[in-house]
Amino acid sequence: MATTSLDLTTVRNIGIMAHIDAGKTTTTERILYYTGVSYKIGEVHDGAATMDWMAQEQERGITITSAATTCHWPLEGVDHTINIIDTPGHVDFTIEVERSLRVLDGAVTVFDGVAGVEPQSETVWRQADRYGVPRICFVNKLDRTGADFFRCVDMIEERLGAVPLVMQLPIGAEAGFQGVIDLVRNKALVWSEETKLGEMYDTVDIPADLVEQAEEYRAKLIEAVAENDEEVMELYLEGTEPTEEQLYAAIRRITLASTGGETTTVTPVFCGTAFKNKGVQPLLDAVVRYLPTPLDVEGVEGHSPKDPEEVVVRKPSEDEPLAALAFKIASDPHLGKLTFIRVYSGVLTAGTQVLNSVKGRKERIGKIYRMHANKREEIERVGAGDIVAVMGLKQTTTGETLSDATHQVILESMDFPAPVIEVA
Ligand code: GDP
Repeated sequence: MATTSLDLTTVRNIGIMAHIDAGKTTTTERILYYTGVSYKIGEVHDGAATMDWMAQEQERGITITSAATTCHWPLEGVDHTINIIDTPGHVDFTIEVERSLRVLDGAVTVFDGVAGVEPQSETVWRQADRYGVPRICFVNKLDRTGADFFRCVDMIEERLGAVPLVMQLPIGAEAGFQGVIDLVRNKALVWSEETKLGEMYDTVDIPADLVEQAEEYRAKLIEAVAENDEEVMELYLEGTEPTEEQLYAAIRRITLASTGGETTTVTPVFCGTAFKNKGVQPLLDAVVRYLPTPLDVEGVEGHSPKDPEEVVVRKPSEDEPLAALAFKIASDPHLGKLTFIRVYSGVLTAGTQVLNSVKGRKERIGKIYRMHANKREEIERVGAGDIVAVMGLKQTTTGETLSDATHQVILESMDFPAPVIEVA
């Protein structure tokens, strides 16, 4: 059983948000597929195991069935843990949506490349704004007739009032959509019609007929980054071209600072077709590159159980007292009742007692599971910044806090958020 702590710089807790039909399910399935394949390859160095998993998953189809699914994605030789939190994002503010948004640190917003920004996309965008969620965009369905990446980018600007950073350009359109130009790397990423699910793309030179357009958009990208980042602005004023690493770092800073609400949301925009498996792998790279780690979130605020006015802040560290939020209760066909929790600070260990600080009652932590798309993994302890499912909680309902008995905190006040009462 895994007992070591995660390096939080390699953790991403994300949601995938979209209006109905934009392709959230398809994109999520592809993400789980690619991460499953790559993780297996990395783990067992054995083609047979990978094939087993592919055959098995192709048969069953991979669907996100869990309130939080853990997957792994390597970038530049480093394995990253991505917890995907299921967000029923297209629904307006319900207590459940709000809670799922609360426990994630960043999001991918998926748009339909044909329909562009729809009223429902505005709903999910405002939700992310309200919770200060940094986000990247994925313009999906570029293989479809009538798809228009640039129109969608304009709509992100006009309808959502955001500053889109065009990170990629499409190569080919509709049925002829072949891949994307990566404007940071100045390279074309292409998938041939024969590219099978699970295979990586080819990185090639930018096609001659698109070189001019790529130069124009790369210049625009660098200018937009410079406008929002002092370091790149200095280089820009000196007439020095920023390096790939400098651009990655600057775009990360800009994305993390863009949390909506009072600030204008500056958001990197990617594109592809999840259905045809083109564009999802670079999107995963972008999740790791630009979305926050739990350490980027400085601390979570709660209040003392004794005094609702007394603000208590818990930092994302295992050295702090335990504070964890139960955000979803699910019934697993094999395990029974599972409580999904996000640990904000401290450590939670299987078999120990903690306090439900809302009810003022002790709870015994049963088995702890990390839920993957194709398996569940029992772990002995879970630390700050992570998201897992716990068995055996008898009293705890969603929205309640588990905390250290001697250092109590309540993360969600009783009137937060106001429950939606439907009147018949
Ligand atoms: P959700 O409602 O946002 O979860 O959307 P789904 O993932 O269920 O997709 C809605 C429909 O669009 C389904 O019929 C998908 O097969 C289809 N779809 C999703 N992504 C793409 C894409 O990239 N290209 C095409 N042509 N169809 C897609």
